[in-house]
Amino acid sequence: MQYDYKEIVPYLIDWFSYNARILDWRENPKPYFVWVSEIMLQQTRVEAVKGYFDRFITDLPEIRALAECEEEKLLKLWEGLGYYNRVRNLQRAAQVIMSDYNGELPADYDKLLTLPGIGSYTAGAISSIAFQIPVPAVDGNVLRVTKRIAGSFDDITKEAIKKELWQDLNRIMPKDQPGDFNQSLMELGATVCLPNGKPLCEKCPVMHLCQAFHQDSVMRIPVKAEKKARRIEDKTILVVEYQDKYAIRKRARKGLLAGLWELPSIEGKLTKQQIDGALRELGLTTHSVEFLGDAKHIFTHLEWHMTGYHVVLEENSLQFISEENGYLWANQGEINQIYTIPSAFSAYASIWKDN
Ligand code: SF4
Repeated sequence: MQYDYKEIVPYLIDWFSYNARILDWRENPKPYFVWVSEIMLQQTRVEAVKGYFDRFITDLPEIRALAECEEEKLLKLWEGLGYYNRVRNLQRAAQVIMSDYNGELPADYDKLLTLPGIGSYTAGAISSIAFQIPVPAVDGNVLRVTKRIAGSFDDITKEAIKKELWQDLNRIMPKDQPGDFNQSLMELGATVCLPNGKPLCEKCPVMHLCQAFHQDSVMRIPVKAEKKARRIEDKTILVVEYQDKYAIRKRARKGLLAGLWELPSIEGKLTKQQIDGALRELGLTTHSVEFLGDAKHIFTHLEWHMTGYHVVLEENSLQFISEENGYLWANQGEINQIYTIPSAFSAYASIWKDN
């Protein structure tokens, strides 16, 4: 059954005018700022994004600076946000904008959609917030809020359901305040119609119109099909040290964590005895080997189950961990300032961070 969302529009816009959180990219909705913030906000909460946004915009205040930024610096600015393809696409899009659009984001939903890393949601958000073009921006928050309002048990993981909602919202977009309307749905989802636990219906401006509230089905909506279980990889991570320098190596240009720096690792979770044996087999003489504990990192389709060791080498082992073998020795300052080591390894980063 199709739900007509027209009635919710004035209530949400009015609520948003009093309840919008003050955010830098809202205070100054330059197209570039809206774009960067929306890319950062994919997979990351507003509170966590604020600091990253400030740093990014201070270092790269214009699209040209982003287009020309050296890769190592760009990745460092993104370190901790994860999903590094987002920032690589951001830069590719900035380069297209410099060459094809005279350095300005195009004020056109369809043209935005052709840029790397910009899908329907981001194109809708930039169009409506920065350019006041009346198109919807449908993400997980918006799907949850609208399906609850409609009392709909549609499976929101289905592309057809997202497209249908896009059409439904497109019909009722307010022509004069499209950015505020889209942001009101996002904001309601982030602060009132919460994803985990009970939503705060008593604070909701559209409670009187909400079918899920009246049918007592709030906690059963949205419906999401079961995801496939993630693949699990066991790994032994080594923090290899010699005279206050640490061995790191660059990952392949393609695939998981492409082009980022990583700590050496061995497949499988090895015991202390096994790691001593494995290091001996590699020809390494150690001054000490200390257990660092277990850790887990979750990617979209994969989990790393890790165990870690701090290995301090003797000098005669350096020939095996060298540039010829793809390693780089970096001190604490260089790792903190230059090289981007993804958060998958953060459980073992305290060794150099605390030095
Ligand atoms: Fe969400 Fe509750 Fe508002 Fe319905 S009444 S939209 S479930 S917060």
